[in-house]
Amino acid sequence: MPLRTWQQDIIDQYPSIIKEHRRFILKAPTGAGKTVLASEIIKRFYEGKKIIVLCHRLVLLEQLEGALCDDHNVRKLTVSDTGPAFEDYDILLSTSMRAKDVLADALPKADLIIVDEAHRVSPNGKGYKRILDDFTEHGKDEAQFVGLTASPERRTGDQRDQLNLAFDAIIDCANIEDLITDGVLVKPVYRTHFVHDLDLSGIDISSGDFPVAKLSPAIVKSSMIDYAMSSYLQERENVSPRPISAWFCADISVAEETLFRIRQAGVSAEIVTAKTPIKARMKLLKGHENGEVEAMVSVGVLAEGWDNPHCNIIVHLRPTLSKVLWGQSVGRGLRSAPGKEKCVIIDVSSNWTTFGPVEKLEWSLWSHRKSYMQYTNRFNWVGQQQEGENGRDAYLLCENKLPNKTRCSHIYKKNTYEDDTCPVCGSYAAVDIYAEQAQDGSLTENRLHKLFFDRVPKVFDEMNLSVWKNLGGTAWRTATPKEQVFLSFCMAFVEVSGETTRSESDYWDVALKAETKIRQYLVENAIQVVKQDEFNLNVIADGMLTGREIRTVQAHYGILLCGTAFEEHDLDESERKYQKAIRIAERLAVMGCSAKDNLPYFNAAKYMSEP
Ligand SMILES: [Zn+2]
Repeated sequence: MPLRTWQQDIIDQYPSIIKEHRRFILKAPTGAGKTVLASEIIKRFYEGKKIIVLCHRLVLLEQLEGALCDDHNVRKLTVSDTGPAFEDYDILLSTSMRAKDVLADALPKADLIIVDEAHRVSPNGKGYKRILDDFTEHGKDEAQFVGLTASPERRTGDQRDQLNLAFDAIIDCANIEDLITDGVLVKPVYRTHFVHDLDLSGIDISSGDFPVAKLSPAIVKSSMIDYAMSSYLQERENVSPRPISAWFCADISVAEETLFRIRQAGVSAEIVTAKTPIKARMKLLKGHENGEVEAMVSVGVLAEGWDNPHCNIIVHLRPTLSKVLWGQSVGRGLRSAPGKEKCVIIDVSSNWTTFGPVEKLEWSLWSHRKSYMQYTNRFNWVGQQQEGENGRDAYLLCENKLPNKTRCSHIYKKNTYEDDTCPVCGSYAAVDIYAEQAQDGSLTENRLHKLFFDRVPKVFDEMNLSVWKNLGGTAWRTATPKEQVFLSFCMAFVEVSGETTRSESDYWDVALKAETKIRQYLVENAIQVVKQDEFNLNVIADGMLTGREIRTVQAHYGILLCGTAFEEHDLDESERKYQKAIRIAERLAVMGCSAKDNLPYFNAAKYMSEP
């Protein structure tokens, strides 16, 4: 099979990639052909060498085995395997938990370790931690540890558990838009409705996402399924060659209700969950693939490792704080197939208005609290489109009352349809989402940005520097937890580099370096930063305004730090410093800092002064 353009590019670059990196992620969208790439890399660069391929699911193992066994001598480990590794084979396939002794024996011998669905790799977790440590300690110097994924972010709430701590670099191989141009994927077309009566306030998110036990009753109580159904019945007329859909639900109660409603509308539908026996599941999915089953309703099983290229409608009924989950689910519908022109994404979960279209997702240092704040707003991405540089992409929310007394609630782009009439109900009864949002007075990142860049130089110019210059020690020593967060931000703004970073891993390296310096300062000066439940931008704004919560000494000292840094850098550098400083302050706020800290990049014990 001839390689796709992006695959060939990576093959060409591979020798220089491994010169620079030992542990890295190759990132490419779902359906791009990562398995083929892996197989090709093995063939070209590891002829006669020893290779370990790991993934967490049996289904994926089987796919990999199929892709690799024609060209290579493969052995799939079973649970009961023992004995030395690589006896009469070159490629060992396994999950991270199988036949641990064989794996332990294989690691020091291996020239290449590939981990599929590498966003599962946790530098702290059970499965991969041992393997990572083994590789670091006993792996061959010239060996590589390569992760494959479409979405390089961990989904847990633990900041110590981030992917970049397990890998040195994330290499962007291909993006969705390029693959659409190449005809590998089809264009996603979003149809979004805002579900007014979905109430998620007060749900505890400390696990990193909405717990389904709380989420599902809220969904069933709301009109989410109504919106999904009415949109679906319209959109199924607009796809070719015929509608085949995948529905993503939060749990079995939502899924069963949804299934009932789809069947009631006369559409053939089935359900698969993690509990569906594997044989029955295969049979159902087969029926979906050949078109006997139009709608496949699922709970947690379709997001990874499942693929039906004929699927041309995705219905998303699962509000989430995870961009990964959002990206994965939508990615399931984008594979091209004969006669398929597009995939309609029906989103009634506010994921689109929160994270934006999947082809434009950016991956960054993730925090579920930040996602939560974005989610609570539910128009985060939409708001950014208006506040961004162009300031032109406004979105409208249709408030037209339908005959059944509910509102249309479709969200669409302004200046796209004649007279801005709603393309769904044909009326004009829309409000400008941004204008409505702006009135609710909550502080967005964009507003803090403006405040910071307007205010700091002004206050700094009027300050008597000699008074505040020497108050750093006092400011820190007497700081309240909120003031600590403010000071962390100011210090981060000073410390972090304003250079352009070319990749996400560069960005992360630069940010961590500054964070480490601040931690060092804190530990050396016996200052403990108390862990905060959430990172609140208002604290920083309050300091800039020398407001109520951040007192004069702390506010002035912080502004002095920022103002000095401002003078030494041009505006572009300050902009980059600012963006990273916010992230660093957030990490310090939610993780805290103490003399007991032992993070992968910072061991406090090293900086403790001798007693
Ligand atoms: Zn409408």
